[in-house]
Amino acid sequence: MTELISVPALWQGRCLCGDHTYEAYGIPDDPHLCSCQHCTRLSGAPAMAWVGFPRSAMKWTGREGEPTYFSTWPTLHRGSCQRCRTQLTSVADNSDMIMVTIFSLARGAELIPVGHSYRDEAMPWMTITLAPEPQRRT
Ligand SMILES: [Zn+2]
Ligand SMILES: [Zn+2]
Repeated sequence: MTELISVPALWQGRCLCGDHTYEAYGIPDDPHLCSCQHCTRLSGAPAMAWVGFPRSAMKWTGREGEPTYFSTWPTLHRGSCQRCRTQLTSVADNSDMIMVTIFSLARGAELIPVGHSYRDEAMPWMTITLAPEPQRRT
């Protein structure tokens, strides 16, 4: 029996207002949460969720093209929409990868984080997990 492994070819994403839309091709790399000071400050939340694509596999398709970049380190640049302020990307100098925010992807909910950067700085209450749905008795 032959097992077919389906590789999602196309991933589409956008900011909240839709000024920036993008397409990324291939297998999303290293989906992870990050609780560094910059991610928590930028998002106002306990973590941001990131996933990587090769820069060459990324295409900006919206009318505003690429997001506007702000450098949070001299070598690290965060891309966001100037209209709705959605955080979209993180790009490090000398890296072939572009990180996109998992939930800017239409199918971001399919990606499960495999790691947590700056875990030591994360809020201890992030260990809280959703309780399972109650089992229905039939
Ligand atoms: Zn926007
Ligand atoms: Zn971070």
